[in-house]
Amino acid sequence: MSKYRIETECVQGGYTPGNGEPRQIPIIQSTTFRYGSSADMGKLFDLEASGYFYTRLQNPTNDHVAAKIAALEGGTAAMLTSSGQAASFYSVFNLASAGDHIVSSSTIYGGTYNLFAVTMKRMGIDFTFVEPDCSDDELEAAFRPNTKAVFGETIANPALTVLDIEKFAKAAHAHGVPLIIDNTFATPINCRPIEWGADIVTHSTTKYMDGHGAAVGGCIVDSGKFDWLAHADKFPGLTTPDDSYHGVTYAEKFGLEGAFITKATAQLMRDFGSIQSPQNAFLLNLGLESLHVRMPRHCENGLAVAQYLSTHEKVSWVNYPNLPGTKYYDLAMKYLPNGSCGVVSFGVKGGRAAAEAFMGNLKLAAIETHVADARTCCLHPASATHRQMNDAELEAAGVSPDLVRFSCGLESSADLIEDIEQALAKI
Ligand SMILES: *Cc1c(COP(=O)(O)O)cnc(C)c1O
Repeated sequence: MSKYRIETECVQGGYTPGNGEPRQIPIIQSTTFRYGSSADMGKLFDLEASGYFYTRLQNPTNDHVAAKIAALEGGTAAMLTSSGQAASFYSVFNLASAGDHIVSSSTIYGGTYNLFAVTMKRMGIDFTFVEPDCSDDELEAAFRPNTKAVFGETIANPALTVLDIEKFAKAAHAHGVPLIIDNTFATPINCRPIEWGADIVTHSTTKYMDGHGAAVGGCIVDSGKFDWLAHADKFPGLTTPDDSYHGVTYAEKFGLEGAFITKATAQLMRDFGSIQSPQNAFLLNLGLESLHVRMPRHCENGLAVAQYLSTHEKVSWVNYPNLPGTKYYDLAMKYLPNGSCGVVSFGVKGGRAAAEAFMGNLKLAAIETHVADARTCCLHPASATHRQMNDAELEAAGVSPDLVRFSCGLESSADLIEDIEQALAKI
């Protein structure tokens, strides 16, 4: 457990230099590491000693930054991945194999939906998608004997539904499986899912954590709370010997705190190699140093824009979790009392065509396949990130054809509102 408050962990967590060592986390730009004897190196390969041997699996720069994110989320271990997509894939594939099944919220990021419903399905893993607002009975009915995990997003991108994390954690635990939460939009500044029962937390660090549109990356944090050995029959990968590491049993050797991340590093990083470059980890850390300062400003701008849009006659609906009167307000007050994120979604009267025309008129806000950046940007998901979905799938994902995703940056909210005002006036 961390000894400092979250603001201090943002600035100083994960790395404490010794006498005469660099103040900033050093970028260890080296593919490999030197050892004095083959026997020393053999111990690393057998996971008998900890240390670095090849940056496809682990790098010291990454591990300092991952340790900071673990401290922010209140977890026991973490790893950086090359992207948020890799984090989502690893978090599930570390638990499930061909023939297994996962329960997922339907309102998840479009890329994650495609990863699950198309690519991982081809690998033999089945997914059942449930609405985040489903009843306890509907959630219960989604489980199968071969279910290995439950997945959801704290604040869904771009639907902005707020997940009832406690409800999903309770259902997962009643079936002896962990809850994985993608906490990208909320960040640990606004919500720490582990405190509400989540077992594994994932991030696209590309978004607010980096926050400057500089580096694609991902992170997986383990709470260290899920007892794999108590559900040994469900998780043989963690609870039986791994022949590719001389018979090590991760749950026994690395305990609750270390088993999940050690297995994901030793097996998945070794075989898939989706590691974050140390350069990107360094940039990510610069972003993390101000995360606690930036998030409140993103939220302030998001609320100001949402309030403005909610009174505009050309806007048919506005969704922002912290806007009173919107559907997820009560859940936001429970899970995100200090603010949610800078992303507002809304519909322009006139549907798909009006939404596209409005976006073309914006001067300050740029059209980008990006979100959660210092610079305000916006996107029409139905014609971009979600264009592979049919209307029924769009509906289930909470993305209507007229939806504009507006990601408020760190600029003056008055300038953002003036830009929206002139763009709406022209349609
Ligand atoms: C962007 C995003 C991802 C994917 O992350 P990349 O870094 O783009 O691979 C996953 N989940 C959420 C909620 C996202 O916003």
